Amino acid sequence: MTLLDELSGFEFEEVMVEVFRHQSYSDVEQAELIADEGRDVTMVDDRDVAAGEEPTAVVVECKHTDVVSRPVVQKTHSAVHTYDYDGPIRAMIATTGRFTAPAREYAEHVAVDPDDVDFELLDGAALRELSEEIPIDLYNGKIEIVCDEAIAPPTDRETLEGYLEAAAADVHNLDEWTVGATLTAVRFEPVLVAETVVDANFETDVGVIHEVEECERSILDGHAVEPARHSDSVAEFVETAEPSRIALDDHALDGTFDRTDIERFEHDERSYREWLVADLADRHETTVSYTGDNGIEYERTCRPGDADVDVETLDPVYLPHVAVATSLGEYEYELELYAAGGKMLVRDAEFERCVHCEAGRKDAGPGASVDQREARSLTYCANCGAIACPDHTETERLVGEPVCTGCAVTGRFAGATRYFYDVTNRETFADAYAEMPLHRKVRENEALVAVLALVTFLLCVSAIGIL
Ligand SMILES: [Zn+2]
Ligand SMILES: [Zn+2]
Repeated sequence: MTLLDELSGFEFEEVMVEVFRHQSYSDVEQAELIADEGRDVTMVDDRDVAAGEEPTAVVVECKHTDVVSRPVVQKTHSAVHTYDYDGPIRAMIATTGRFTAPAREYAEHVAVDPDDVDFELLDGAALRELSEEIPIDLYNGKIEIVCDEAIAPPTDRETLEGYLEAAAADVHNLDEWTVGATLTAVRFEPVLVAETVVDANFETDVGVIHEVEECERSILDGHAVEPARHSDSVAEFVETAEPSRIALDDHALDGTFDRTDIERFEHDERSYREWLVADLADRHETTVSYTGDNGIEYERTCRPGDADVDVETLDPVYLPHVAVATSLGEYEYELELYAAGGKMLVRDAEFERCVHCEAGRKDAGPGASVDQREARSLTYCANCGAIACPDHTETERLVGEPVCTGCAVTGRFAGATRYFYDVTNRETFADAYAEMPLHRKVRENEALVAVLALVTFLLCVSAIGIL
């Protein structure tokens, strides 16, 4: 087994020479170490000779790097033109990593030009496939995790701001949405879409006692420390959003997100395959009872073996975990969600919790009644920007709007606590209160009003009694 990761650039070229010699190439030669002019290896394609055509020379540039960008392709392109060969020539770049979109575009552009040379790009994934056809076992952590596709996130800020609007839709007193996103970020989380077939037969002397025949799709979390399946909700989201994909280096992302991060796959493909085979064997393991020819009852554990489980595809892709932040007054609110393929799955919404006690609307639970939900409702405080629960929301006495207990100043009137946006409002109200006739002052205290009503009632009753 050749571990590509551990090779130097020159050793990688040597391996590629071996690979090409196993294919239909002849005169495969590695260039001198110092003479690197964009052609590390030169060779002749024997298929042309076999087809009775003029043999094509192939100029190969080898790049033992994670990413090959456009300048490397350009350099190789000019190296082909300066290569001294009397006959058709084509170009090839082999890498353990991947090509950027501009690099691929450049090579395609050259290849479709009838007056220019053919251009072939061999990335880590292609190299791995190739090594399966020839008796060279190339093994490379980087090759295993090469992935340049993401499930398509939204590529306009309006959509992201729409998510904020939707998340805040149930907050009372926040009807007029005028605040845009202050920060947008996307973190690409690695996932693997696996298609597997389990086909197992368990036989004893009395014949087949148990059969498993099942095709399944599994969504694996590529970032987990140990290989693992994603939760059902995330897996379902990936299943529905997965068909719409975008290149990871798509420039549309730059204009949409202030920040872009890519998480790495924790393991190589081989490890994921091995884990899946073992996991599926676990899931399908069962104990079967059967009666033998001798009439005796037997039990047997039926567990699919490695040969019974086939991982048909293991497709790596990135899942966009989007964060959108906005500020309201003194507060920053962040919304985190998986957003892709026109769908969304909220992971965390700070709009859904009271800033003072963390009590959330969601805490009401799915089976909650209207009253229970209202008890868990949240209200926006225009005075400070807080979103607060009923316990932390009061009515501003002067203007009659909601105010949170975090920012409100209080005053006592007729023995009751009243809440104000600020000291100025309290003073304005205090002046008005001083002018009020007694029966209106009393109304500031509901408990007092109730007591007075009762006293009045009792006085009336006793007055009637006296009469
Ligand atoms: Zn609260
Ligand atoms: Zn407030």
